[in-house]
Amino acid sequence: MAKNLSFSYSKLGMYKECPQKYKFRYVHMLPEKPKYYFAFGTALHAVMEFIFNPQRPGFPSLQEALQFFDSEWNKTTFEQKGYASVEKELEGFAEGRRILETYYAKNEASFVHPLSVEMKSTLETDGLSLISILDRMDYLGDGKIKILDYKTGKTVQREPTQLYMYQKVVENSPVIKALVQAKDPSVKEVRVGEMSFYHLPTLTELKFERAPDKEIFAFWQGVLDVAGNIRAGKFDPTPGETQCKFCDYRNLCPVFTGKEYDGPGGYGARKKTVLPSPDFPPAPEKPAAAPQSEPDQLSEKIDRLGELIDEQRRLEQEIIALMQKNKFARHFGKAFQAELTDEEKIQISDEEKVVALLQKLNLLEKVLAPTRTTVARLLDDETVSAQDKAKLKVLVQKINVPRLIVEKQS
Ligand code: SF4
Repeated sequence: MAKNLSFSYSKLGMYKECPQKYKFRYVHMLPEKPKYYFAFGTALHAVMEFIFNPQRPGFPSLQEALQFFDSEWNKTTFEQKGYASVEKELEGFAEGRRILETYYAKNEASFVHPLSVEMKSTLETDGLSLISILDRMDYLGDGKIKILDYKTGKTVQREPTQLYMYQKVVENSPVIKALVQAKDPSVKEVRVGEMSFYHLPTLTELKFERAPDKEIFAFWQGVLDVAGNIRAGKFDPTPGETQCKFCDYRNLCPVFTGKEYDGPGGYGARKKTVLPSPDFPPAPEKPAAAPQSEPDQLSEKIDRLGELIDEQRRLEQEIIALMQKNKFARHFGKAFQAELTDEEKIQISDEEKVVALLQKLNLLEKVLAPTRTTVARLLDDETVSAQDKAKLKVLVQKINVPRLIVEKQS
């Protein structure tokens, strides 16, 4: 018997956006590049979980919440978070702290413990393993639940699909029912009483009523249709200006390359594709391609090299994140070993301003040429006054960035 297809709101959203994109992400298992807005949202979700953890007696102070946020934030570098620069990352960090300060100022007096926070629920139904992470659930009494979803983007709007998915999960999950019954043994049936999106940047709440059963039924038929298409291997691309512009898979996509992507092995004469799940039958073989001209071979090799470089960068970021998370300085594979060190880098926010400042402070003659290294040396130069160093430090910073060395084991 085929195992249940693992499914979620985000998978549904991606398939609806473009089935080919879904295939890259969940069939070929190619990760997307990190996105700063996800990293920002993840850090804020983690701190909300910390504040409202139902197992903890009382609530942390603002200072404790800020400290927790700082440590969550500093688990990854700006690149791992997907920020374009350290400055942008610092802006995100400052915005996260501002949100927490205003959240406490507005809500601290009315903090109450919820039924659950960040509850990962898996509902096995209709051949699907439906996975949802419910940011917060409150028990309203009489078997009724309030579902609250934190939003951290620029705007917040009603997303019926997400609300329907939550309602389907909450009202059918035996785990959630058991959780409610542990609090209120008289409950026979769990129902959604209220759903809301809480927009953290503006501290505004959008409340929604429970959707009628008729709407949930129609929504669920749509989910089952999508699941059926996935099982049938239907992944035709649906290109569009916006989704393609921001798609990480453009350089692999048949819409742009004119060729079917076959997995890490590359394009060309198709090899038998090994798909990761019995839910995905292999696509039919295509006839062998005609011999390629040398310019075509060259283009293909350039594309392949680009893919490998992208893949290398992704892997490096994942390895660094895992080693930092586990506090490993060194780790061994079967044939290779990885070592993680810190490398000091010099960061200059505005080179023209640095040159102007060096001229003003009569320090330009101390450096043969104002490069990052020579300017950074001035910060350690005993003949440069502390006052001048302080002025320089506004524009020139030493930062530590992780450096990964991967070598073959001897
Ligand atoms: S580039 Fe466009 S068509 Fe291709 S996978 Fe991405 S979104 Fe789909």
